[in-house]
Amino acid sequence: MNIILLGPPGAGKGTQARILVERDGMVQLSTGDMLRSAVAAGTEIGKQAKAVMDAGALVTDEIVIGIISERLEQPDVKGGVIFDGFPRTLAQADALGELLARKGMALDSVVEMRCDDDELVTRVTGRFTCGGCGEGYHTTFKQPAAEGVCDKCGASDFKYRPDDNEDAMRTRLLAYYKETSPLIGYYHAKGSLAAVDGTAEIDEVTAQIAAALN
Ligand code: ADP
Ligand code: ADP
Ligand code: ZN
Repeated sequence: MNIILLGPPGAGKGTQARILVERDGMVQLSTGDMLRSAVAAGTEIGKQAKAVMDAGALVTDEIVIGIISERLEQPDVKGGVIFDGFPRTLAQADALGELLARKGMALDSVVEMRCDDDELVTRVTGRFTCGGCGEGYHTTFKQPAAEGVCDKCGASDFKYRPDDNEDAMRTRLLAYYKETSPLIGYYHAKGSLAAVDGTAEIDEVTAQIAAALN
């Protein structure tokens, strides 16, 4: 099964994608994670993307389509893919449709994760991740069981994203409404859209996604 998790920054796409990976062995393709790796590695793409990402704007379609196209060449995608944070524009959605068709892969479902803006800002400004395994946490909603120690891997260095501040977040929300939200209509028209309540508890959202995929 191949699915898209569609939703604004902070809606819980990454959190739910990791749960699906653990439970169903699917592969998570997060363009945000891939771009952050490129920035950390200092590649040409990383250099082009860094300032744009820090400001909360979108990286060019050409760059992200290129990254996804290359990633879809790996054999592990045959076991099922969760697109997390891609596509974010109509051009990206069209390109994804072509890439999947060329590879004989279906798009089974697009799950829209709905969440209101104030909640999104609260979530993003309290977000941190484990530097060891990438597990996501939140200062209020999802603290590690033992303070300062990752539940999943035991590491104790946590990371805060430079774009998880209120200013960049406002820009990201605008980009979402302007560039990405048209994809809701796009996939609705294709008959593949399902919506879940992203403001519910993490487990409840997982259950709603499972119901939507059945
Ligand atoms: P996205 O990938 O959509 O940007 P994340 O999955 O990183 O969002 O979630 C943003 C923040 O909100 C994280 O700190 C995460 O721990 C927290 N979070 C995710 N889902 C929920 C939820 N259902 N309720 C409360 N907090 C959540
Ligand atoms: P979020 O938690 O806001 O959903 P992501 O980790 O998905 O954030 O993305 C972080 C940043 O990376 C975005 O603000 C944007 O600059 C860039 N980015 C990620 N995916 C895309 C994409 N599909 N198209 C354009 N820019 C992207
Ligand atoms: Zn960890």
